[in-house]
Amino acid sequence: MAKKIIIGNWKMNPASLKEAILLVSSIKKGKAADKNEIVLCPPSVYLSDVVKILSSGKHGIKIGAQDCFYEEKGAFTGEVSPIMFKTVGAKYVIIGHSERRALGETNESINKKIKLSFKKGIKVILCVGESERDETGQYFRFIETQIKSALLGINKSYFKDLIIAYEPIWAIGKNAQKSCDPKDIKEMSLFIKKVLAEISSREIGLKATVIYGGSVDVKNATQIVSEGEVDGLLIGRASLDAKKFLGIINSVSSI
Ligand code: PEP
Repeated sequence: MAKKIIIGNWKMNPASLKEAILLVSSIKKGKAADKNEIVLCPPSVYLSDVVKILSSGKHGIKIGAQDCFYEEKGAFTGEVSPIMFKTVGAKYVIIGHSERRALGETNESINKKIKLSFKKGIKVILCVGESERDETGQYFRFIETQIKSALLGINKSYFKDLIIAYEPIWAIGKNAQKSCDPKDIKEMSLFIKKVLAEISSREIGLKATVIYGGSVDVKNATQIVSEGEVDGLLIGRASLDAKKFLGIINSVSSI
């Protein structure tokens, strides 16, 4: 099986640095060496400490930020730039998560954040996803618009550093009834690759990294990756429990 990427988005968790250190230490201890890429995205305030814990050993775990700002530095109270994340060891940044979009993030600011992150050498995990599915398939147009506006004016040479995370909002978080059906994930993944091919080239579209997020757990992870034919997973809740997260990593490794 080709290399997969499994990303843990801790969101605004855990509540203390002590717990964050415990969580990353347990994941590091339990992670067997394999070819898959594991990325942890802790709250930015814990980032340096998490990097420190991961600085030894052959675990291959990388670090990402959960968001960034679109300016390098300056008078932007409360914001953190991609270059700052890079200097403390982050290799990835999540941009356009639905929870940030719900707080007012626009396609325009997402586009600016992606541009700066690429320019500064940070890989981008762009989240897209519809809030509901309609009978006529309008949600495909919605995803197309999210992708095209997020990548507007971005040089195609950066697309190798892009991961698109398909995260249907209705399948995310504790209020979700279930994850998306693997056959629908496969259909959307192909659609996303087609959209990328349209704005770049057939080759880039075919090679694009598309992952899935939304109510992934130990029970459904392998089915989603194999039947959904995705390049990896973005995990929310289950990434906060070392046993569950390691269980997902190990089950994907065994495919
Ligand atoms: C998410 O919010 O990105 C996510 C995938 O959450 P969960 O796994 O908890 O559904």
